Amino acid sequence: MTKGNGEDPKTGSRMERFQQGVRKRTLLAKKKVQSITKDDVKSYLLRNAFVLFTVVAVILGVILGFSLRSYKMSYREVKYFSFPGELLMRMLQMLVLPLIVSSLVTGIAALDSKASGKMGVRAVVYYMSTTIIAVLIGIIIVVIIHPGKGTKENMHREGKIVQVTAADAFLDLIRYAPLGILFLIAGKIVEMEDMGVIGGQLAMYTVTVIIGLLIHAVIVLPLLYFLITRKNPWVFIGGLIQALVTALGTSSSSATLPVTFKCLEEINGVDKRVTRFVLPVGATINMDGTALYEALAAIFIAQVNNFDLNFGQIITISITATAASIGAAGIPQAGLVTMVIVLTSVGLPTDDITLIIAVDWFLDRLRTTTNVLGDSIGAGIVEHLSRHELKNRDAEMGNSVIEENEMKKPYQLISQENESEKPLDSETKM
Ligand code: ASP
Repeated sequence: MTKGNGEDPKTGSRMERFQQGVRKRTLLAKKKVQSITKDDVKSYLLRNAFVLFTVVAVILGVILGFSLRSYKMSYREVKYFSFPGELLMRMLQMLVLPLIVSSLVTGIAALDSKASGKMGVRAVVYYMSTTIIAVLIGIIIVVIIHPGKGTKENMHREGKIVQVTAADAFLDLIRYAPLGILFLIAGKIVEMEDMGVIGGQLAMYTVTVIIGLLIHAVIVLPLLYFLITRKNPWVFIGGLIQALVTALGTSSSSATLPVTFKCLEEINGVDKRVTRFVLPVGATINMDGTALYEALAAIFIAQVNNFDLNFGQIITISITATAASIGAAGIPQAGLVTMVIVLTSVGLPTDDITLIIAVDWFLDRLRTTTNVLGDSIGAGIVEHLSRHELKNRDAEMGNSVIEENEMKKPYQLISQENESEKPLDSETKM
C-alpha cells in the first residue's frame, strides 16, 4: 500500500526514522564538540603548560632582545641581563656526565648482550646514513644557490671568537628552564653586532643553511620515520616540541637531553631501554644539522675565495664534515670549532671562519634543533626495528618472574605448613 502522496508508509516511516536518527546524531555530535572544546582547552592548556611556557619564553625573549637593543647597553649590563640564562646553562653543565653515564648503564643493563648489540648496530647505521644524507643536502644546496658569489672583501669579519662554554644536561631543574631560555635568547639578541653587517653574501648564506636544514628536518627525517615505522611522523614530532624549543633556546643538544628523554618516554611512549641506550650516544655523535652546516659552510668559504673545488675535494669535505660532526660536542657553537678540520683538509683559510661568526649564534640554534630531532627520530626508528627483541626480553623477564615465583612456592608452602604446625602463642605459653 502507498500513502496519498505515493509513498509507501513502511518506507516513509523508515525514511523519517533515518532522518530523525541523523538529526539526533548531529545534535549529539554538536553537544559533544561544545563540551570537548571547553574541557579540552582547559586540560590541553594544563597538560601542555610547560611547552607553552617555553614557546612563549622564546617569543618574549626575541621581542625583549630586539626592544632592548636600542638602549645600547654596556658589556657589563648585557652580562647582568643575561645572568638568568647563564645560570640555566651552568646548571645544565652540572649533570651531563652523570646523566649520560647512568642512563647508558641502566639502558645496557636492561638488555641482554645480543639485543644491545643489534640495537647498537641499528643506531649506528641510522646515524651514519642520516649524517651522510645531511652532508649531501648541504653540498647540493650550497652548489645550487651559490651564496658566496662575489668576493669576500666587502664582507664583515667578526674579530672575536665566541667562547665555547661546556653547557650540558641537568635533570631536575627543568622547571626553571623557560625563564632561563627567555634571558638566553634576549641576551644574545642584545649582544648581537650591528645587523647591518648581515647583508649580501652572509644573508644568502644564512638562507641557504636554513633551506638545507629545513629539507633535512621537514622532509628527509619524517619521510624516513614514515617509511620504516609506517606511523605518522608529525604525531611523533608533535610530542617533541618541548625538546625542540629547548634546543633552540640553549643551542646545546647535551643540555636538551633531559627534556628529550622526557618527551620521548613520557609523551611518545618510546621504550626506556631504547632511549637510555640510544639517546646519550646520539646526543654525542649524531649531529645531522652540524654535518650539513659544516659541509655547506666550507663550500661557502671556498666560493667567497673563488676557490674552485674539484670532485675529490668535495668528497673530502663530505668525509671530514661527517667526522667533524661526530667529533663536535653537544655544546653551543662546537661545530664552528671542529670546522677547522674541514677547512684544512682542502686547504681553505681557517681565518675565514670569522666571516660567518656573526650569524653563527643563530644558525647554531637551528642546527641544534635539527640534531635533537635526528636523535629523537632515531630512537623511534630503533625502537620499531628492535620491537621483537624487546618483546622477547619482556617474555623472558616474565618467565623468570614466574620461575622465581615457582621457586619460591615450595618454600612458601613449607613455611605455610610450618606456620600451621606452629603451636599458637597461647598454646606455647600454656
Ligand atoms: N650546538 C650544537 C649542538 O649542541 C653543536 C654545533 O655547534 O653544531 O648540537
